[in-house]
Amino acid sequence: MSFSRVQDQAVAMRLLSSIIRKGRIPSGLLLWGPDGVGKRLAAFEMAKAVNCLDLQGDACDTCLSCRKAISGNHPDIKMVAPAGKARLIVVKTVDDINETTAFRPFEGRRRIFIIEEADRMNEAAQNHFLKTLEEPASPTLFVLVTSHPRALLPTVRSRCQSVRFGSLRVETVADLLVRQRGVDPAIAGAAAALSQGQMSRALDLVESDRRKMVLEVIDRLRRGEDPLLVGEWFSAYLQKVEAAITAAVKAGPDTDDDTETSGEESRDGRRGKEEVEAEVAGRMRKERYELVYLFQAWYRDVLVYATTGDASRVMNRDRISDLTPAPGANHAAKLEALDTAWLYLERNLNPGRVFRDLFFALAG
Ligand SMILES: [Zn+2]
Repeated sequence: MSFSRVQDQAVAMRLLSSIIRKGRIPSGLLLWGPDGVGKRLAAFEMAKAVNCLDLQGDACDTCLSCRKAISGNHPDIKMVAPAGKARLIVVKTVDDINETTAFRPFEGRRRIFIIEEADRMNEAAQNHFLKTLEEPASPTLFVLVTSHPRALLPTVRSRCQSVRFGSLRVETVADLLVRQRGVDPAIAGAAAALSQGQMSRALDLVESDRRKMVLEVIDRLRRGEDPLLVGEWFSAYLQKVEAAITAAVKAGPDTDDDTETSGEESRDGRRGKEEVEAEVAGRMRKERYELVYLFQAWYRDVLVYATTGDASRVMNRDRISDLTPAPGANHAAKLEALDTAWLYLERNLNPGRVFRDLFFALAG
């Protein structure tokens, strides 16, 4: 049973398997829900099941078609993902898809396009896609995968059968971290609880310095260090992160596919620079929210643990002994300061200042 590989998504998987069993395969499926909960895996299992020669309502994983899919060599299963520094799915890509669907599948019953991060199709691309999505010229299934369904045009969404994915259970994420990634169980438990049921987020927590930095700030403030100095130290860290992100984006694939600005100024390099800046700004914004979230999780844990004494209800479970509140500290006020910081970041206030002010509120 290959659908059973997708964990904690019983409702979604029941829907997909009933589509296969009844043979009522729509031309478009929209798999949506949080990042890192198994949508892409489900899309791939669906692609296998649609062409499986065993016809049992699921992929058998052993027939020729399934084996080709697993090895990445099935000629009728195509993956489409955002490309270029701006990470977009552009008109040219969609036009290629449209052209391909003019021909019958090579060997499968249906050709399947799995469109990852479908929300990264820009509006022009989505408009080019509409007609094929509604009425492909040959047997085709489009599986659109997204965590931002609202970024898709209503006309695209309405042409797809919608399949919603929810968060994973904390236990599932922790178990995957330990078994698949060899993460220490105590750290895996905390990362899973902090991930809000998203495997990708848990992995990011385990692999990045983010949580370590947040815990260090908290420790320094508890030791009575000057919030101003802690703020400066933290700003330097944020700059380092930004430099690393910028380098990664610049080293990313080039934007050959993105030639769709009408007119002359498309290829003069300016656009490339703007794309890099926009991508870096977006990732930094996300980084800062994740940091604030980790601070929130910590002070929320302190309150929960002080009120209930129940270790199973806290997220930072690898640091239970540090969760005891300092006598006289007002944790409700600290949580309020965190809400304010979030708001200020949303309003694009200077992040260095926002964090420094926050550290003054968190000190003491
Ligand atoms: Zn099979």
